[in-house]
Amino acid sequence: MKVLLIGSGGREHALAWKLAQSPLLETLFAAPGNPGIADCATLVALDIDDHAAVAAFCKENGVTFVVVGPEAPLVAGMADVLRAAGIDVFGPSAAAAQLEGSKGFTKDLCAKYDIPTGAYQRFTDAAAAKAYVEREGAPIVIKADGLAAGKGVTVAMTLDEALAAVDDCFDGAFGAAGAEVVVEAFLDGEEASFFCLCDGANALPLASAQDHKRVGDGDTGPNTGGMGAYSPAPVMTPDMVARTMKEIIEPTIRGMAADGHAFQGVLFAGLMITAKGPELIEYNVRFGDPECQVLMMRLESDLLPILHAAATGRLDTVSATWRDAAALTVVMASKGYPGAYEKNTPIRALPADDAASKVFHAGTALKDGQLVATGGRVLNVTAVAPTVAEAQKAAYQALDRVEWDNGFCRRDIGWRAVAREKA
Ligand code: AMP
Repeated sequence: MKVLLIGSGGREHALAWKLAQSPLLETLFAAPGNPGIADCATLVALDIDDHAAVAAFCKENGVTFVVVGPEAPLVAGMADVLRAAGIDVFGPSAAAAQLEGSKGFTKDLCAKYDIPTGAYQRFTDAAAAKAYVEREGAPIVIKADGLAAGKGVTVAMTLDEALAAVDDCFDGAFGAAGAEVVVEAFLDGEEASFFCLCDGANALPLASAQDHKRVGDGDTGPNTGGMGAYSPAPVMTPDMVARTMKEIIEPTIRGMAADGHAFQGVLFAGLMITAKGPELIEYNVRFGDPECQVLMMRLESDLLPILHAAATGRLDTVSATWRDAAALTVVMASKGYPGAYEKNTPIRALPADDAASKVFHAGTALKDGQLVATGGRVLNVTAVAPTVAEAQKAAYQALDRVEWDNGFCRRDIGWRAVAREKA
């Protein structure tokens, strides 16, 4: 099979690395890719916002299957254009991608199909939103409706903070994404990420993971795209996974199909495990980044036939097997991230990959033969081992061999699971 992978981050490097191991693969192309992806795929300089050009590339080069990594092209309708051209695509239609593209859409679906989530209301004007916030009181959560690169959510612990967040949204802090606002009840518990493949009618549970959103050790400082992750998440016990499938994922798939936009692709449920059980915080319609990196390190099965089965309505014919081990990834970011940071700083050395550890590239580029950091999040140093504590040790041992003066990382990724293992 000739396959095109869309994207250029650490998530796509992990997908490319895993896809490249498939005996079913003839050629893997990636657009736009990065220097790490270049080790396992042929990079093509396509404008991925030009969906017709992507379809034309596939036709000209015999590509029959496209795997879309990031959410933005899906929300913009890339999968619709490619499918209309007769190309199999892993990833939802624009209509189904509203599960990530509009928080209000997802909340309404939850209300309609009795899916557990925080009580909420949608607003298009500040005065009504503020009146509701004042009635409900703090803590309360204010969310810009649309895609805001993970920045559109304020968990307000005080009323003043909540009212200011409403103003920020309507004053345009998140552009068009904040023209509508969802105000939601605060959920108390432990968070987990849970990933499933869907083919429109069937769901195949993959695995759980836990992310670390804050920039600083001890979960301090501003939110980021994610500073590290591990899988599996101990809070997702077999019972919690079964409840999540029955109470959240399956009604979502049935509801989406009944409403005329069957969901096909990866459903990434952000969950809060509360005293009552799993509740939905949000859906994403793509693999998490960096959660994908730890999932791919743990996945034993060939990834290509599983993704293709999801894309072609045959998910009931495949299964996924996992290493009975923990995987952990540490993100190395440019100093200053998530604020301003210097670009094009040289990365002089990386540790060699081995069976237990691997460095995935996120924001890197080659400039005159020198590897440089071009993004905020730059490298994902990933390891797999029997326990989270051992995976953590192996990941930091590999990370300490990275020679990059302008890089930093958290030193406590996995702390919650390591503490549990000790106990
Ligand atoms: P989201 O972008 O919706 O995942 O929200 C970002 C983060 O805000 C989540 O990972 C949670 O830590 C937090 N969050 C979102 N919604 C809630 C909620 N209803 N209650 C508590 N925390 C929340």
